Amino acid sequence: MSVLTDLIYGGSNAVAGLTEGAVNDAIAKYGADKAIAFPDTAYFFPTIYAATGVKVKTLGDLVPCVSVLKSLITNQEDLGQALNAGLATAVGAEILEGLKWVDNAEPYANDSGIGFVPDPIIRSLGVPLVTGDIPGVAVVLGKADNAEDVVNVVKDYQSKGIMTFMVGDVIEQCAEGGVKMGLEFRVIPLGHDVTSVIHVVTVAVRAALIFGNVQPGDLGGLLTYTKERVPAFVNTFGAIDAVVVSAGAGAIALGFPVVVDIDLGENQVPGALESVCDHSLTVKKSLELRNIKIKVKELPIPVAFAAAFEGEIIRKSDMHNEFYSGKNPTAELVVMRELDEVEDHKITIVGPDLDGASELALATFVEVAGKKMQIDFESVIERKFHAWFNYMEGVMHTGQRNQVRVRVSKNAFEAGLRLKDFAEVLYVMIMDEFDAVVDKCQITLITDVEKAAAFRDEIAMPRYNQRDDRLASMTDEAVDRYYTCILCQSFAPAHCCVVTPERLGLCGAVSWLDAKATNELDPNGPCQPIFKEGCLDERTGRFESVNKAISDATHGAVENVTLYSILEDPMTSCGCFECICGIEPVSNGVIVVNREYKGMTPAGMTFGELASCTGGGVQTPGFMGHGRHFISSKKFLYAEGGIERIVWMPKELKDDVAERLNKTALELYGIENFADMVADETVTCDAEELIAWLTEKGHPVLGMEPLA
Ligand code: SF4
Ligand code: ZN
Repeated sequence: MSVLTDLIYGGSNAVAGLTEGAVNDAIAKYGADKAIAFPDTAYFFPTIYAATGVKVKTLGDLVPCVSVLKSLITNQEDLGQALNAGLATAVGAEILEGLKWVDNAEPYANDSGIGFVPDPIIRSLGVPLVTGDIPGVAVVLGKADNAEDVVNVVKDYQSKGIMTFMVGDVIEQCAEGGVKMGLEFRVIPLGHDVTSVIHVVTVAVRAALIFGNVQPGDLGGLLTYTKERVPAFVNTFGAIDAVVVSAGAGAIALGFPVVVDIDLGENQVPGALESVCDHSLTVKKSLELRNIKIKVKELPIPVAFAAAFEGEIIRKSDMHNEFYSGKNPTAELVVMRELDEVEDHKITIVGPDLDGASELALATFVEVAGKKMQIDFESVIERKFHAWFNYMEGVMHTGQRNQVRVRVSKNAFEAGLRLKDFAEVLYVMIMDEFDAVVDKCQITLITDVEKAAAFRDEIAMPRYNQRDDRLASMTDEAVDRYYTCILCQSFAPAHCCVVTPERLGLCGAVSWLDAKATNELDPNGPCQPIFKEGCLDERTGRFESVNKAISDATHGAVENVTLYSILEDPMTSCGCFECICGIEPVSNGVIVVNREYKGMTPAGMTFGELASCTGGGVQTPGFMGHGRHFISSKKFLYAEGGIERIVWMPKELKDDVAERLNKTALELYGIENFADMVADETVTCDAEELIAWLTEKGHPVLGMEPLA
């Protein structure tokens, strides 16, 4: 037998033995009926569920799984068979890890890793993955002989936006080496036991179930999905034992190439298992194996610039400067000019720089001109400031328009970061991302308090007001076209969003104006116009042209969608929706739940469980994913009677949308403070109590027609 298959089987058999023993011990201790589950997932033991369709709910359910696992280990001298044994190791790892939760709600409390990744986080990764913001997923495992090597590799991935999961001592090595870690930095420590690598495997597996509509039990479909659509790969550091090798075989079976830093000689499998002993080549080789292309942006600024720094938080004690609308005037504005009114790349700073004072005003004023520029794109460009400022290491940005807070860290200041660098970032990024419409761009930054205030009050505010008036007048009736968005098809091949002025994309990131701009920037790209033709039903928002566009965009997978109904051919979901709404049958109403909410709902399901009812481009009447902003739209649930159907929302979501929701309710139905009639988790999560409360409040849903 070859050294490689020998090692794989050795590891798989060892894990199988451990797993069987652990399951038997747990049953002996707790009984076969003892419930078992990973936290905050609707997919049971995800690998087992996806591969076999079995829903593990109790310890007893694991017994047949152990038999399946053992049957995967044939011990035959054949690489394909050996890779299957690797899958057995994955299943064993899932069981061993799952058992950690038997009698412990937080088994990872004392580990520097996070363990299991909950469903909502996976959903939140949908958009950055499809836009290429996260171009790939690295799994870094083991213990580097020389800590500096793994630190450099992980920092390199971070600067490229690659999401990195770590297992083993590399976690401490990177922590000591100053790598910033956490979900927001896209470097995620999973755990120390090698079995914790399953927590990244289940991310890929659940992506297939959530976005790909892979059916539980369809192992072939699962492996095709992970291989073709999850751009993951593995790097091991240091010596590897049989268990690591068999886990690596599982990764290869899922389509994830493995790069090791020891010389495997003739045991290498080109394209799947390769040795790279020089760590300066690890990243390059890994990206090549997965054909991941990184768009590098060379920015002439003294700090790093990468999407991985977007979530960086700068505390007061680390802060050198703050521009904050609560203390000083701030404003951000993009204005369209005539070509001869703009001097390209002109940068003007009015007032003190970062060394002038710690608290400053900041008006960021960008004037653009271009033959194809449109006034509607001003706000599209302006909203990108937030991300671009955040991409600078040591800069934190929140808010927009005249409500802004920007912090600059001491480290960034000491590295030499100054205001002209902010302007450079804006210039380079605008010319890069909006080159199809912007020919010239000039930037003025005003930190002088009086001048910034004058700019805000006399130039920016009137412009915001004009835009708001235009947005308010922009209804579905007022435009001649809607747009498709198929960005998420790289994960959810059967899904297409229809974006209208009153209904933004379900991810919350694509408004009608964004879709329009995307189409202008890239005419053959993900957003295509749908001309409003052949209205079949105004109540549900059914159009011949929309049906045709959906059918074309999904290659026939979806043939009919309505724009405004949750019951009749509702719009499909990819899986990355901000919120989900669903029928609450007892009250005859609809509940709306946001992704961040972790608790129970009156429907008897959590967000994750509700979310698992739809997604992957499937239509599930009664459940629908949508953006936060859609909730206060006059078109929300229009066919079912509108927002009067809303009976329950998590408090955080309700507070966020209350003002707009109240405005819509007053306009449509003459109801004052409608949000106060909507229950939340502080009222009840029980359907019967909900009805009593709604009755007490005189909620309008009680007088509405029953939902079919
Ligand atoms: Fe994905 Fe729809 Fe958002 Fe486009 S609009 S990115 S398809 S969720
Ligand atoms: Zn999506």
